Amino acid sequence: MRPNVLVVGGGAMGVSAAYWLAKMGRSVLVLDRGDIPNSAASSGDHVRIFQLTHGKDAFYTDLACKSLPLWLALNDEAGEKLFHQNGMLELAVKDGGYEDQSFKVLQEMNIRAERMDKPEIRRHHPMFDVRPVRFALFHHDAGYIWAMRTVAALSHLAQKKGAKVKLHTEASEVLADKEGIRGVRDRHGKVWQADNYLFAAGPWTGPLLKKWRLPLKVTRQEQMHIMPPTNRGRYRPEHFPVFAVRSAGIYGFPVHIHGFMKLSTYLVGPPGFPATDGATKVSPQFERKCRSFLKKFIPDLGGFTEMEGKLCCSATTPDKDFIMDRLPDTANGFVAAGFSTTGMKFAPLVGKTMAELIVGGRSEVNLHRFRVHRFRGR
Ligand SMILES: Cc1cc2nc3c(=O)[nH]c(=O)nc-3n(C[C@H](O)[C@H](O)[C@H](O)COP(=O)(O)OP(=O)(O)OC[C@H]3O[C@@H](n4cnc5c(N)ncnc54)[C@H](O)[C@@H]3O)c2cc1C
Repeated sequence: MRPNVLVVGGGAMGVSAAYWLAKMGRSVLVLDRGDIPNSAASSGDHVRIFQLTHGKDAFYTDLACKSLPLWLALNDEAGEKLFHQNGMLELAVKDGGYEDQSFKVLQEMNIRAERMDKPEIRRHHPMFDVRPVRFALFHHDAGYIWAMRTVAALSHLAQKKGAKVKLHTEASEVLADKEGIRGVRDRHGKVWQADNYLFAAGPWTGPLLKKWRLPLKVTRQEQMHIMPPTNRGRYRPEHFPVFAVRSAGIYGFPVHIHGFMKLSTYLVGPPGFPATDGATKVSPQFERKCRSFLKKFIPDLGGFTEMEGKLCCSATTPDKDFIMDRLPDTANGFVAAGFSTTGMKFAPLVGKTMAELIVGGRSEVNLHRFRVHRFRGR
């Protein structure tokens, strides 16, 4: 039967939209080129950070505040802790930068946060070396998200509400004319039709929607899972927060899986997709960067010997704002993409927003920063 909505891409955003659409009573079919979750996708890793800070950009802090209750509700509905709130420590090396700007926004929005001086950091988080640090910002509502488990849970919940899922089915062409989108052709030539189409194919969205020329830049982002050489218990989430040193471009997680903890970077990686899906080899430069970061800020970890790399791709727009909109010149096409390396925390909200847009033509979230027409004339 022809579904009301065909969702292309079963990553965090696609399955979240499918869940909300099914909850709103729509018939939904999700196509994915791989498994759900797909470990080669942007959401294809164990953990992602949930943080409310966004420097002086209060818009994204407000968005994270809107997303937070949806995560807590998802934890309840899924019956598992997909979002783990153990707080986030952001170490600042100077006054007046990102951390101070974030702190100001959190205070203005009455969000619980502390600006810690060095003795306080030492008392509460003794694993960090405070010598290179000026102060730290700790906010309690932050934590980490089990990324692939969330994708699996949302897909499961969507299917419980009636959504259908078709795996290993890669959309290769969007069939569109003046009237709108007529169908999506898969790699084997089969055409899939629906009343409405949502494209949420993560980093692959740009090539799939080439007719619309969305300015999405794909980069390979390096991550590393390391095993603390000693005292592993000290780095468990009960004792150790999610952390970041923005000026060093590095953030990390407590021990979360098989005794490993994760380090990742805010810096933009090299352009393009890896040669193979799910590649795990990180560059020697990234390994060196992580090691020297640890020696400086968490010295007991600097001598790690066991590590595993992980590459994930992300797609980013020129202004780094997301794309959540109707596709230009189509009445029945929608797109949710460009979530860069910050989007996972918004997944429940993105799904809800796209479902509202498709079902009712408008959303509770103000979409002015996410519209496609902002790229016109570029
Ligand atoms: C290294 C890294 C670290 C990050 N860290 C954080 C973080 O700490 N906190 C945070 O909030 N966010 C973080 N993010 C961002 C977040 O992970 C992404 O914004 C989010 O996962 C995007 O989800 P998505 O559903 O748009 O894309 P994806 O997860 O990539 O899903 C796209 C799906 O579409 C499928 N697909 C693709 N093409 C086709 C096709 N042609 N036909 C059918 N199916 C197709 C894919 O198989 C995939 O399942 C990070 C991202 C990266 C890369």
